[in-house]
Amino acid sequence: MAGQGPTRRVLLASPRAFCAGVERAIDTVQNLLALHGPPIYVRKEIVHNSHVVADLRDKGAIFVDELTEVPEGARVVFSAHGVAPAIHEQAQQRRLDTVDATCPLVSKVHSEARRFAAQGKTILLVGHAEHEETDGTYGEAPDNIIIIETADDAATVSVDDPRRVAYLTQTTLATNEAAAVVEVLQRRFPELQAPPDDDICYATTNRQNAVRAVAAEADLVLVVGSTNSSNSQRLVDVARREGVAAWLIEDATQLRSEWFDAVTTIGLTGGASAPPHLLAGVLEALRTLGPLDIEERITSTESVYFAPPSLARRPHSRDE
Ligand code: SF4
Repeated sequence: MAGQGPTRRVLLASPRAFCAGVERAIDTVQNLLALHGPPIYVRKEIVHNSHVVADLRDKGAIFVDELTEVPEGARVVFSAHGVAPAIHEQAQQRRLDTVDATCPLVSKVHSEARRFAAQGKTILLVGHAEHEETDGTYGEAPDNIIIIETADDAATVSVDDPRRVAYLTQTTLATNEAAAVVEVLQRRFPELQAPPDDDICYATTNRQNAVRAVAAEADLVLVVGSTNSSNSQRLVDVARREGVAAWLIEDATQLRSEWFDAVTTIGLTGGASAPPHLLAGVLEALRTLGPLDIEERITSTESVYFAPPSLARRPHSRDE
């Protein structure tokens, strides 16, 4: 039942929440559990969302930080963020049965890194050094890759041969910020080679465009996602850059009634790793403050689907 407060408009950003790479990674673990039963080991969080991890843990997944925690010969899933070749080697040494849930769009960046490295280029990898995805890509060619986190890094980095330089980016960066960093690199290294396609993925780009559109009309933007989710944090950044207050929330329990005092229009979105049902929970909680007038703002439509790895495909499913 709606609360007694004023009617508020909610603008739902579209696209929002789960992307194809995240759905594939979750399906991989769920299908393995259904086909082979627990335990299924997963190295690192399968995707950066605490609810997804808790749900899979309840179903029998065991999350570990290091492969040394996985018993020899057991089955282990690599997360959507990708792993360095050294991790594959370590798994082989421990005779682990690996299932790779790396998003195909992250694998694409890995193969670009290998190709540029084989050409003897220095690769300037624009990304967050602490992020698992950057770690995995870096591991493809550690002798050739330099991580660039900021425009300052781009302005000061030195390379062996300025004519043999390429750049790559993490898939979940803010598009504007990444473009500014690349611009600095291009000014400094006129022969800088770009990846064949933009590394910032379709889901990141679409969600940022969608949140920008709702932020332009809203007094407040809510982004559902976990604090370790890079793309969710970037949605908050993009909304704030539009001049509105924006909050990252794990779920409806983190809403604060004082945020809504003078607010008539709320923008709502979720990061690529946020389950859609959490956004439904937020709408339900907002209704306790007063009636809602919900509109969707569609800036693009998505039809991308990635089938799970063959070992994790269920018969008679869309994966066949
Ligand atoms: S955000 Fe992009 S790169 Fe990351 S899992 Fe989703 S589709 Fe793949």
